Amino acid sequence: MPTEIISKSNRGLISENHPLAPLTTWRIGGAAARLAVPADLEDVWGLMRLALDRGWPLFFLGRGSNVLIDDAGLPGLTLHLAKSLQGLERHGDTLRAGAGVSLPRLAQAAARLGFSGFEFLAGIPGTVGAAVRLNAGAEGDTLAGVLKRVWVATPQLQLLELQPGELDLGYRASLLLNFPHWLVVEAEFNLAHPAGPEAIKTRMAELIAQRKTRQPANPKSCGSVFKNPPGGPAAGWLIEAAGFKGRRLGDALVSRKHANFILNHGRATAAQVKALIADIQEKVWRTQGVALEREVVLLPEDLACAV
Ligand SMILES: Cc1cc2nc3c(=O)[nH]c(=O)nc-3n(C[C@H](O)[C@H](O)[C@H](O)COP(=O)(O)OP(=O)(O)OC[C@H]3O[C@@H](n4cnc5c(N)ncnc54)[C@H](O)[C@@H]3O)c2cc1C
Repeated sequence: MPTEIISKSNRGLISENHPLAPLTTWRIGGAAARLAVPADLEDVWGLMRLALDRGWPLFFLGRGSNVLIDDAGLPGLTLHLAKSLQGLERHGDTLRAGAGVSLPRLAQAAARLGFSGFEFLAGIPGTVGAAVRLNAGAEGDTLAGVLKRVWVATPQLQLLELQPGELDLGYRASLLLNFPHWLVVEAEFNLAHPAGPEAIKTRMAELIAQRKTRQPANPKSCGSVFKNPPGGPAAGWLIEAAGFKGRRLGDALVSRKHANFILNHGRATAAQVKALIADIQEKVWRTQGVALEREVVLLPEDLACAV
């Protein structure tokens, strides 16, 4: 069981040796050496300062729908944001959302207000902060289409305001990939396209229904493991052509319905998923000459440096 301690430097509770698998959609991975749920932005600063003072590596976790956490867990301090920074307010012709707001909640809020452009977010099971980092998208739309500006907390304890032009938003990419210890704390979105709430809700329901027909029913996945290569066939097609549909390594299984999904079919480990990812990359490269780039983030590997 995790031990809970109160840090003197912040108001939030820090839990030691906290299991992370239940906080991810894959349900895979070890424990966080320390996990904190920041109460608010002030608390974020306190926790960042604490990590800086103690030399702890710092990790961020939203709804855990795009990460593979190592079986050995994470050292340092993990900030869990899925229940933090939940503000969601209209300011004239914009909507401001805290980093922890879920994308379906954001889409529903825009629909209720009668603004279109957010429907594609209704079926993406992540948070606003992580979605900015990767310019989340679906059906040809991306966050870049509605984003007005974001506020980012840096480990140097600065609050930066960044415009979309400065964020260098591309296909599942942004400037933030180069700064993994910058924490998105809030984002502002344009409410630019008025539409009837019922029509918007109907469109959201259609998009969610389409997902159900294309994606596996097993919810224990991270969505697409790989990015689609630019200009080429989709990653799922390449993986299927390389013969991986239904391939299993332990309890890690390449979906038969959509080969870019690796499912946790029971008690899959991070080691099994990583081995399967490496096998796929190697075979697709050898047989089709395409180097598949991961979309999913490996923790701690992808962010393993102290703040
Ligand atoms: C079934 C399924 C379907 C999916 N479909 C789509 C889709 O259609 N389109 C799409 O784009 N994605 C899709 N995804 C992937 C995922 O939902 C998105 O990438 C989402 O934006 C991740 O949000 P999260 O809160 O779960 O991030 P997490 O997985 O918790 O974190 C992902 C990365 O973001 C970082 N991070 C988290 N919060 C912050 C923050 N506040 N500031 C800075 N960095 C942060 C983490 O350190 C980590 O590196 C899907 C996933 C699943 C499981």
